[in-house]
Amino acid sequence: MANEPHDHDHERGHGHGQSHGHGHSHDHDHDHSGNSELTEQQARVRALETVLTEKGYIDPAALDRIVQAFETEIGPHIGARVVAKAWADPAFKKRLLEDATQAINEDGTLGRVSDHLIAVENTAKQRHMIVCTLCSCYPWEVLGLPPVWYKSAAYRSRSVIDPRGVLKDFGVTLPAETEIRVWDSTAETRFIVIPIRPAGTEGWDEEQLAELVTRDSMVGTGEPLKASEVAR
Ligand code: FE
Repeated sequence: MANEPHDHDHERGHGHGQSHGHGHSHDHDHDHSGNSELTEQQARVRALETVLTEKGYIDPAALDRIVQAFETEIGPHIGARVVAKAWADPAFKKRLLEDATQAINEDGTLGRVSDHLIAVENTAKQRHMIVCTLCSCYPWEVLGLPPVWYKSAAYRSRSVIDPRGVLKDFGVTLPAETEIRVWDSTAETRFIVIPIRPAGTEGWDEEQLAELVTRDSMVGTGEPLKASEVAR
């Protein structure tokens, strides 16, 4: 890939946009032997990986497996299945609210959680929202990698000051009497929101229910899909 002839059309091209977080101009004065396709960030990651491998801190094969897991296995579909099971199975929901880490792990089919995970349930009276004010702690074992906005300074600061305003920006308008609780994640404790089960889903099985559960609904910034929005 790196040595293929390429047309240098980086602006329209293959998704270079988001990884250029450092505001450097993308003038084409880089050398085209070797790893010229790497962004600055990718080059840094590669350098770090090389040093850590040489010093024996990491096993590159294990690292590859972790990266692959994030690309192909770990994502919000895991959290969606947890929520769907909670909707369908009151005994599981009770266990989940008591100790989400244990409830998920002892189920055996919902993936593994090693962090201390806390599930919080939305009701008509009270809504929950998750943030990490300090950095970007996120329940990655059940939701995968965090969206860009989750890590933004605007979300991190405004969620605490004006959660209702932030929800409105996300298209969620709540009645004034609905209380909003904001949970600040840490390296030790992560949160997942159990949204309100959509109306008209009586009798749906867990697989069907899981299709309604959006990532944002589990962060608390969105609603699950409506029953009419998924094909049955
Ligand atoms: Fe954090």
